[in-house]
Amino acid sequence: MSLRFSAISGISKESDTLSPSSGAKITAIFGENVFTLKTAREYLSDEGYKSLTTSIRGGKKIDRTVANQIANGIRAWAKSKGVTHFTHWFQPLTGTTAEKHDSFFTIKSDGTAIEEFDGAALIQQEPDASSFPSGGLRATFEARGYTAWDPSSPAFIMEIGKGKTLCIPTIFVSYTGDSLDYKAPLLKALESLNKAAVDVCNYFDKNVTKVTATLGWEQEYFVIDEALANARPDLIQSGRTVYGAAPAKGQQLEDHYFGSIPERVYAFMRDFENESYKLGIPLRTRHNEVAPAQFECAPIFEEVNIAVDHNTLLMDVMTRVAKRHKLVVLLHEKPFAGINGSGKHNNWSMATDTGVNLLAPGKTPKTNLMFLTFFVNTIKAVHDHADIMRAAIASAPNDHRLGANEAPPAIISVFVGQYLAKVLADVETRVGTKFDEQDEAILKLDLHRSIPELMLDNTDRNRTSPFAFTGNKFEFRAVGSSANCANAMTVVNTIMADTLRKFKADVDALIEKGDKKEIAIMHVIQKYIVESKKVLFEGDGYSDEWHHEAERRGLPNLKTTPIALDAMITDKAKKLFESNGVYSHSELEARHEIELEKYIKKVQIEARIMGDLAINHILPAVIKYQNELLNNVNGLKAAGLPESAYKSQLTILKEVSDHIQIIHSKVHDMVEARKIVNNITDTRTKAIAYESQVKAAFFDDIRYHVDKLEHLVDDEYWTLPKYREMLFLR
Ligand code: ADP
Ligand code: MG
Repeated sequence: MSLRFSAISGISKESDTLSPSSGAKITAIFGENVFTLKTAREYLSDEGYKSLTTSIRGGKKIDRTVANQIANGIRAWAKSKGVTHFTHWFQPLTGTTAEKHDSFFTIKSDGTAIEEFDGAALIQQEPDASSFPSGGLRATFEARGYTAWDPSSPAFIMEIGKGKTLCIPTIFVSYTGDSLDYKAPLLKALESLNKAAVDVCNYFDKNVTKVTATLGWEQEYFVIDEALANARPDLIQSGRTVYGAAPAKGQQLEDHYFGSIPERVYAFMRDFENESYKLGIPLRTRHNEVAPAQFECAPIFEEVNIAVDHNTLLMDVMTRVAKRHKLVVLLHEKPFAGINGSGKHNNWSMATDTGVNLLAPGKTPKTNLMFLTFFVNTIKAVHDHADIMRAAIASAPNDHRLGANEAPPAIISVFVGQYLAKVLADVETRVGTKFDEQDEAILKLDLHRSIPELMLDNTDRNRTSPFAFTGNKFEFRAVGSSANCANAMTVVNTIMADTLRKFKADVDALIEKGDKKEIAIMHVIQKYIVESKKVLFEGDGYSDEWHHEAERRGLPNLKTTPIALDAMITDKAKKLFESNGVYSHSELEARHEIELEKYIKKVQIEARIMGDLAINHILPAVIKYQNELLNNVNGLKAAGLPESAYKSQLTILKEVSDHIQIIHSKVHDMVEARKIVNNITDTRTKAIAYESQVKAAFFDDIRYHVDKLEHLVDDEYWTLPKYREMLFLR
């Protein structure tokens, strides 16, 4: 029996034996595995506690002796929970998380065995990191990588099976201080935003001393049966089905959206939610997505750095917990052709330490102006740096998703909703006319009351936008489901910081010329609206008209990753990231190189899998069926029947034989094309060639013939689980 059929017959037995996991009260377990400030208060001395909190609030350095105290406190807490090992937890550019486990156990010089965890071990470690991508940075500087404690994200305990490990969130940098991970540049971008935003806030409120960016991600994913996934080498190795004909019942009926969640998946969800609560991840919503077997979860938003850590943690937890339920979670952006892809919407805003959401419309003329300031600056930031935002979400898997089945196009635009579009247009029409003090109609707009109502009507429309205003936050929807949100968040916060800094300079210049503060602000807002209005789009982002319109407006539509990544290393990008203290030139070059290499590797792996599956799975099955047809035809002929008796068989035989020949020769040609491309030494040229000479030239074409065969060949012979089995079996 083929793996496919044993998997299918295994499923029905499996689902009976699974029961929902225990339903603990969320409040009873929330954060129990996190070294929260409350826990810190219990385990740390006054000095240690104070040092930790000021470090969290102001990014102040913690000195060695205090670090020892904190390390001891953390260890005592971890020990009370049965933890024996600790690790520096970090987010290398491979896209997963990494850990190096060490034991608390050490031997003193006199031979006594003790358990210890000192300040040095807390603050810095040197993982054996030679295998993590550095884009040539470490080689250039002949330096090793170090992980360094990030006190702003709390330590936590990871439970895997019976083992418990204390995880210290860290950044990963080279000896010379170059970032080798996602977190280090993110922290720098957040700091840059903090400074720039506080300065602008102070026009309106002198009490603001800190602005934090906030992030609430929505994680989409597919869940399928483990045995079926294991019978699909493409899913296991690349996260995506490279072949598979569309099922008769696709998502046309859309009966999946908010539909009932199948029992087994529900048990899995409850289980991973429990694990997440223990880790302090504030998960909240849970519902089916439009596509069959697709689901989503989202937490309550948090400060960006914590939210990013929680998302990477969650992806890890989900993947592990799924195994317990004999399920596989697919985080890939496009696991199934012709079915919706998965995104990771990044809901983003900024909050002051006085408790104001800077993207929430105000209640008074003054707070309205503050809202309008941050709102328009965001639009201007996206307009000026749409290319860099596009680069931030570029990846081989996201290329399959963007612009296909209910996914935002690769064109970066901003949706603001009809009402705000009108407000912006009103403000704009005053350009040139001296904005006089009496004319405060705009400032008095009752934004606070009108917006929430209007946003409700617009939710359907804005689904198609890559960057949409949703009432009190912007939603960056083009981010892919498997991505680390840090990349997108580093860019969004950097471009915002940069724009706000320019805004302040522009306003100050007008004030110097004698404008009243509010008038100066209004004038700069007007100017920014005029300069950035071409990035605003309220229509259907999925439509062809938009593609034409965007072209007319001069908005780029970069469909492939190797080209989209160019925006990372332009002079504009280098100036932007350097002046905000986020990336140096060499760090940008290194990252660009790493992203290109990742792209090449992914396309290369997919191409290999396509070839292997075609030769080892598809063609042998088809040839068996071909033989059967042939025997049948010969038998009928030998029995003296006229050709009319086996005409249909001959037609099928001919079709099947044609597809076999085409597939075989195209796979051969693809291998040859790969050999040529592999000889290219320049990484960018190679990535572009992999896109055009391998992926575009062969993938869809070979797939077309394989998928045709799936419909022609006897179901009994087909070895790969079919879409209908993976997506609809529960
Ligand atoms: P949707 O209709 O897109 O599901 P939700 O109201 O569920 O909208 O919110 C989606 C996400 O946006 C949630 O994670 C939520 O916490 C987050 N969110 C809400 N307000 C903010 C904010 N001010 N900053 C960042 N994220 C926010
Ligand atoms: Mg959303």
